[in-house]
Amino acid sequence: MNIAFIGLGNMGLPMSANLLRAGHAVSGYDPVAARVAEFVAAGGKAAQSAAQAVQGAQLVITMLPASQHVRDIYLGDGGLLSQVDAQALLIDCSTIAPQAAREVAEAASAKGFAMIDAPVSGGTGGAVAGTLTFMVGGAAEHLERARAVLSAMGSNIFHAGPSGAGQAAKVCNNMLAGIAMIATSEALRLGLANGLDPKVLSSIISKSSGGNWVVDKYNPCPGTMDNVPSARGYTGGFAVDLMLKDLGLAVENALDMKAAVPLGALARNLYDLHSKSGNGSLDSSSIFNMFAPKS
Ligand code: NAD
Repeated sequence: MNIAFIGLGNMGLPMSANLLRAGHAVSGYDPVAARVAEFVAAGGKAAQSAAQAVQGAQLVITMLPASQHVRDIYLGDGGLLSQVDAQALLIDCSTIAPQAAREVAEAASAKGFAMIDAPVSGGTGGAVAGTLTFMVGGAAEHLERARAVLSAMGSNIFHAGPSGAGQAAKVCNNMLAGIAMIATSEALRLGLANGLDPKVLSSIISKSSGGNWVVDKYNPCPGTMDNVPSARGYTGGFAVDLMLKDLGLAVENALDMKAAVPLGALARNLYDLHSKSGNGSLDSSSIFNMFAPKS
């Protein structure tokens, strides 16, 4: 297939590399030249603009930072909706507000395009390994058209519902993940204050009623686990500022839906404080340090 990939960042670069490995012809664009150079080294074809990348593409994938980037690239002046071939399938994999996803999909549909929202979970490790989870919003037949391509980048594909439903599922998941990260940090710090070995405590929690994904796969306490950000000074992984963005999306969405998310709002505020203390680019598990005893 001829695929256009727009946004070759921490996630987009390894995702597009997996499409190239699967034998697709991929034309890519990112405003950062170093990103494009890495993409070309992996076998991709560099485009000078998003508009150029989509010429002749049967499928367009966007993997951009936030709602405004997605609105601008599809709906803005000379946006993709006026550039792509009529038969092309549009897939936005960025994490954005469900409302923004619905707005862009409606504009695409009004012009006769098929579009799905397909945000991912699994982090940069999952993007490299091709084991991402896709949460898809849109018509079932559009998902079926996308399935083979999504399978080259991920191992779990869920149809969450109509347009925006993939983003709504992502918002719920990431709110829970953010709360779990803080709750696990708090519990491990309490254990340390009691003189417990955090590795032993983590093993106990893992097999008890407090067990969760953070303690099993992403332990925030250094020395408890290899190959996670806490083992390398909280570098790599999922940045505090991206977690803050996702928790902000959850709180905004809860206001729109008139739903109560008291712990989600508290988690957002704690990540906001952590970011403003200069930790925005560290991995989100660094919030463990917020609960360090003061000397
Ligand atoms: P990133 O900042 O590394 O990559 C985004 C890329 O988009 C950058 O390279 C940037 O230059 C590019 N970009 C910005 N504007 C553009 C434009 N107009 N045209 C083309 N490219 C443009 O971010 P990331 O970590 O790759 O995350 C991308 C999305 O995936 C975000 O919405 C994020 O929330 C989500 N996500 C990230 C992770 C993760 O672990 N990093 C996990 C799941 C979901």
